[in-house]
Amino acid sequence: PTPLGPTPKLVIDLERLAQLPKEKAGALARYAATIQSQRGDYNGKVLSIRQEDLRSLAVIYDKSPNELTEELINWGVLDAEARRAVESF
Ligand code: C2E
Ligand code: C2E
Ligand code: C2E
Repeated sequence: PTPLGPTPKLVIDLERLAQLPKEKAGALARYAATIQSQRGDYNGKVLSIRQEDLRSLAVIYDKSPNELTEELINWGVLDAEARRAVESF
């Protein structure tokens, strides 16, 4: 059983993202850069994104939100805690 608590945030590890090959992570990197630009938030090591943005990214990657979350966890871009954020979809 999962311990109860507030829904965790989806927190992108920007340093890890920058290390990944463009063929894999290019679309996510562009999406994150757009959010940073809209917020004026340029100096972070991480970026908290909206749940809604994970849905949009799943469409871009032609996966379900759950599949994309697993992939991003495998890449080291999201924490395993992110699974709980997507369960509430
Ligand atoms: P907006 O959606 O009209 O939001 C205006 C402001 O409300 C944001 O200014 C922010 O101060 C606040 N805000 C809205 N939703 C949230 C939230 O869930 N959490 C927090 N902490 N604050 C929130 P900000 O940050 O300067 O963003 C300006 C605009 O940039 C936003 O206007 C939106 O159009 C876009 N944007 C910024 N971050 C994101 C994002 O993560 N995803 C998407 N889809 N758009 C974003
Ligand atoms: P938190 O959400 O657990 O974030 C912890 C730290 O991760 C933040 O420390 C910041 O260094 C980094 N971080 C997380 N998301 C982002 C992001 O989208 N951009 C950047 N540049 N850094 C990020 P910080 O800034 O000292 O904030 C400490 C705590 O204060 C946060 O913990 C959160 O609970 C609260 N906080 C800060 N900004 C906001 C905000 O815009 N909205 C809300 N609701 N809480 C905020
Ligand atoms: P947070 O700031 O702690 O916000 C947690 C949740 O509260 C958001 O989840 C959203 O459901 C709600 N919320 C907070 N502020 C607003 C608001 O102004 N308008 C509306 N309609 N809802 C709000 P969500 O959307 O999944 O976002 C997760 C995290 O992503 C936020 O945590 C924040 O760290 C970041 N974020 C999202 N959108 C923005 C934004 O526009 N600007 C900034 N600076 N951060 C954002």
